[in-house]
Amino acid sequence: AKNAGRGRFEVYREGMLEHEASKRVFEQDLAEALALGQLELWYQPLFCLPERRLVGFEALVRWRHPERGLVPPSEFIPVAESCGLISSIGAWVMDEACRRAAQWPDDLYMSINVSAVQLRSATLSSHLHQALTRHRLPASRIELEITETAIVENSEHLAVVLAGLRAIGVRIAMDDFGTGYSSLAHLREFKVDRIKIDRSFIAAYASDDGSAAIVRAVLSMAGQLSIDTTAEGIEQEDQLHSLIELGCGTAQGYLLGRPLEAGAADALVHADQPS
Ligand code: C2E
Ligand code: CA
Ligand code: CA
Ligand code: CA
Repeated sequence: AKNAGRGRFEVYREGMLEHEASKRVFEQDLAEALALGQLELWYQPLFCLPERRLVGFEALVRWRHPERGLVPPSEFIPVAESCGLISSIGAWVMDEACRRAAQWPDDLYMSINVSAVQLRSATLSSHLHQALTRHRLPASRIELEITETAIVENSEHLAVVLAGLRAIGVRIAMDDFGTGYSSLAHLREFKVDRIKIDRSFIAAYASDDGSAAIVRAVLSMAGQLSIDTTAEGIEQEDQLHSLIELGCGTAQGYLLGRPLEAGAADALVHADQPS
């Protein structure tokens, strides 16, 4: 059985998208993974600038596969989106993230990724509402990260959904900002609370004048619109220094903290904020 499992996994990687049959096998395994509790959330710390104080975490899903170890979300979220499993995976993610956040101090927020497909489904709001209620977590402790592409794809319906979520106090972040095709008008239309500058701009900051100019322009625009800002993917001190100088509000990246298992995130919370 172990060998069979291994063989099946190889199929995922090579023939997955070409062969309907192996795609079905992968989808079935993923559904089972959810039912068997093989999905895990890891938590990457978020720090406010300039003082580098811990302010929250981004929840990042992984699949603890019995043979292959930890499978990253890039290998299964797209499949979950195409076969409809993303709704139930997303519901599990929201529940687990709320459960964890409820154990942490009130001044830490939890940021949760939501895919375009989830936004299209009618159940997103009710799943989030259930999770908040079950864990007695105020909506203000939660931020939802939505990509620009998701916003463009869903325009009319989305404005209503996002307004409803913001009305109960959930905050909305525009993820991977700068990589999608949204126009600046979307920022006004959807009233996002935060912009997360994509890590490709941070990585190129020192070497590419164009990227640096975009980072500066986004931070300045966000400041004038009173939108909070997070820079993703900070790996080097000089990047952090530049972002502090430019007034970026929040920092995320390997330099300050990698995604952590729940236990390690707990330890960081308690080391940082004794109470
Ligand atoms: P993302 O939302 O852009 O998440 C940030 C990704 O960048 C994470 O990868 C994180 O580990 C990685 N990262 C953070 N800091 C650094 C850094 O300094 N350098 C580099 N090179 N990378 C950094 P991860 O965990 O593999 O997640 C990949 C993507 O999968 C996420 O990108 C997000 O789009 C998606 N994803 C993760 N969890 C969920 C989830 O629960 N639901 C949904 N729908 N999507 C998820
Ligand atoms: Ca994200
Ligand atoms: Ca991102
Ligand atoms: Ca990104």
